[in-house]
Amino acid sequence: MAPLQRHPKDGFGSRYGDAIMYIHFLGTGAAEGIPAINCRCAHCVRARTQGGKLIRERNAILFSLQDYELLVDTPPHIGELLARHGVEHIDGIFLTHEHYDHVNGIVDFAYWGERVDLLVEQGLHQRLKRQGLLAGLKQVGFHLVCRQGVAVRFDGFFITPFAVLHGVPCFGLAIYYEDFKVIYLSDSSVELTHQARCLIRGADLLIANTPFFDRSGNEHLNVLDALHLKDDLGVKRLILTHINHHNRPHDELEAYVEEFENVQVAYDGMLVKV
Ligand SMILES: [Zn+2]
Ligand SMILES: [Zn+2]
Ligand SMILES: [Zn+2]
Repeated sequence: MAPLQRHPKDGFGSRYGDAIMYIHFLGTGAAEGIPAINCRCAHCVRARTQGGKLIRERNAILFSLQDYELLVDTPPHIGELLARHGVEHIDGIFLTHEHYDHVNGIVDFAYWGERVDLLVEQGLHQRLKRQGLLAGLKQVGFHLVCRQGVAVRFDGFFITPFAVLHGVPCFGLAIYYEDFKVIYLSDSSVELTHQARCLIRGADLLIANTPFFDRSGNEHLNVLDALHLKDDLGVKRLILTHINHHNRPHDELEAYVEEFENVQVAYDGMLVKV
C-alpha cells in the first residue's frame, strides 16, 4: 500500500473523508534517539550504515483531529521534525512530562508565528515555567489548564489526560471521538492506576511507549508488557513507539510482532488513518 501523504492546507473533510483522525508519528525514538550519540552498539551501527526505518528521532506525535491539529510533546529538534514532515499548522500542544527529550523543543515555539494552545497540567506548567522553558511563549501560547481525569471538550471530540507513574509527574491521553477511543500511553510504568486501566480497557487503538523489549524497570513499559496489556484489557489495536537502541531494530521487532494480531511498530514519518 502506498504511504499516506498529508495535505496540511486541506480542510478536515476533504483530507479525511470517512476518517476519524490521522496520526502522524514524527519521531519514534526514546531519549537518545537512534543512532544514539557516540554509541557503537550493533543497532546504532546498523542505523548509521543502513538508515531508513532504523533511524529514530526523539518522540513526537501529531494527532489530526476534526479542525484541530494536536501535537503531543516537543523534543529538542522539533522544528526540524515539523519541517521534514510538512507540518505547517498546529492548533494545540499537549506536553506529557518534563523530561528533556519530551519538552525542551517547546522554547522554539516562541518563533512559531501563530498562537497555539498549550494543554498542560497545572503542576507541570509551573515546573516548566520555573525551568525557564516557557519564558518566550507569552505572546504565542494560550495556557489551557489540564487536570488529570478531566475531559477537555472540543466540537465533536474530547481528550482526557490521565496520570501515569514515571519518576516525575506524567500524563497519558485518552482521545474520544463518538464511540471511538484512542489512548496515548506516554512514558509510563507498567503499574497503572485503576482509572488508567478503565480508560485503556477496550480501546480501539493503544499507542504505547516501549523503549525496551523485555527489560523491566519502574519507569517504562517494555514490548512484552504492552502486548500483555493489549490482551488483558481487550485493546483492539496496538502501536509501539518511543523505541530505544537497546530494543530490537525495526525489522526484527516488526518480525516479532507479526505473530500477534493488530500490532504494529511505528517508524519515523508513519501516518496512520483511523
Ligand atoms: Zn546504540
Ligand atoms: Zn520520560
Ligand atoms: Zn521518554
